[in-house]
Amino acid sequence: MKVLVINCGSSSLKYQLMNMENENVLAKGLVERIGIDGSVLTHKVNGEKVVIEQPMKDHKVAIGLVLDALVDKKHGVIGDMSEISAVGHRVVHGGEKYASSVLIDGKVMEALEECVKLAPLHNPPNIIGINACKELMPSTPMVAVFDTAFHQTLPEEAYMYALPYELYTKYGVRKYGFHGTSHRFVSMTAAEMMGKKPEDIKMITCHLGNGASLAAIKGGKSVDTTMGFTPLAGVVMGTRCGDIDPAIVPFLVKEAGMSIEEADALMNKKSGVLGLSELSSDFRDIENAAKEGNKKAQLALDVFDYRVRTAIGTYVAALNGVDAIIFTAGLGENSASNRAAICEGLTYLGIKIDPEKNGQRGEALEISTPDSKVKVFVIPTDEELMIARDTKEIVESAK
Ligand code: AMP
Repeated sequence: MKVLVINCGSSSLKYQLMNMENENVLAKGLVERIGIDGSVLTHKVNGEKVVIEQPMKDHKVAIGLVLDALVDKKHGVIGDMSEISAVGHRVVHGGEKYASSVLIDGKVMEALEECVKLAPLHNPPNIIGINACKELMPSTPMVAVFDTAFHQTLPEEAYMYALPYELYTKYGVRKYGFHGTSHRFVSMTAAEMMGKKPEDIKMITCHLGNGASLAAIKGGKSVDTTMGFTPLAGVVMGTRCGDIDPAIVPFLVKEAGMSIEEADALMNKKSGVLGLSELSSDFRDIENAAKEGNKKAQLALDVFDYRVRTAIGTYVAALNGVDAIIFTAGLGENSASNRAAICEGLTYLGIKIDPEKNGQRGEALEISTPDSKVKVFVIPTDEELMIARDTKEIVESAK
C-alpha cells in the first residue's frame, strides 16, 4: 500500500509518498510560495533534487503539480495516480471532537470548519489542502491526523484554566496541546527501545524545535503538555515567549500603546530566544554566538534550558516519577550541549548522561549511562511516518 502524506500551510505544502510494505519513503518534497510570485516545487527522489519553478495560483494547482511529479516518466516513482491507496493529511486542530485520527467524510469536514475559530491560522490551509486533494483524487480515501488528538486524554485538572467555567462551555477555552503526533511517535519508539509496553512506563517527551513543547505520558497516554489553548504557551521557543504573566498583555496595551494585534505579533514572532538574544531565532546562531562570548545569546540559552528543566520537574510531579526522558526535533535531536545543559540540573533524579553517546547524531539512541536511574533517549521524530501508519490502519479497517 502506498500512502501520500500532505502537510499544508498557508503558502507552503510538504508531501511524502511512502511504501507502507517496508515504510520506505519513495519521494518527498516541498512547495513554497503558493499564491505568491516565485512559486517553486522541490521534489526529492533517491537523494536527487528536481526544482520546478512555475506559477501556482492556489493549493489545487500545487497539488496537481505534486501528483504530476510523482507520476513523471523521468523523476516519478509510480506509474499512475491509482497506485496511491490513501492520503493522510496533517490537521492542526481537532478540538474536543477528535481523540484519534479519522477517515474524512462530510461530517469530519464540518467539524474541521468548526475548529477554525480555535486555529484561525492553521486549520484553513489544512482544509484547503484536503479539498484540493478531494477534487483531484475523488475516489481515494483520506485520513485526518490531528496535532491535538494525542492530548485529548489530559485529565480535567490539567486542561482546565482557572477562568470562569462559562468560558470553557461557551468558547472552548481550555488547554488542547499540540505536537501530539510527534510526542506519540517518540514515546512509542522509546517504549520499543526499552522493550516495554507503553502501558507500563512513565515518560516525559521534549519536542524542542523552533516550536517547543513537553508532554507527560503515563501508560501510553498524554496526561499533561506545555502548550495550551494555542501553541504560544509553555516553554520558551524560537520566536514565541511561552508562558508569561498574562497581565503583561494589558500592561503593553496601556503603557506601551500597543494594539492587541501588535501585542499578539510581539509574543508570537519577536519574543523567545530571538527576543532575548536580539540576534536570531535559530539555535545554531545562538549557540555559536554564546561560544564567542555573546552575553545575551548565553542568557537566551540559559532561560530556555531553565524553562525546559523546570517543566521536566513539573511533570515528574504530575507523573509521580519518571522512567524515561526523550529529546526530539531540530534542537533536541542535534544539540548535545543543550541536552547536557538541561540534564545537568536533573541529577536529583539520578540521571547520568554518557558524554560519548550524547555526542553521536542521526539515529535513535539511549544517551544515559547503564546505571542512570532514568533512561534518557534521543529519538528523531517522524510525524510523516506516524501519519502514514494511522492512514494505513484506518483505511484498511474501513474496508
Ligand atoms: P524544527 O522546528 O524541529 O525543524 O527545529 C528547528 C530548530 O532546530 C532551529 O531553530 C535550529 O536552531 C535547531 N537546530 C537544528 N540543528 C541544530 C544543531 N545542529 N544545533 C543546534 N540547533 C539546531
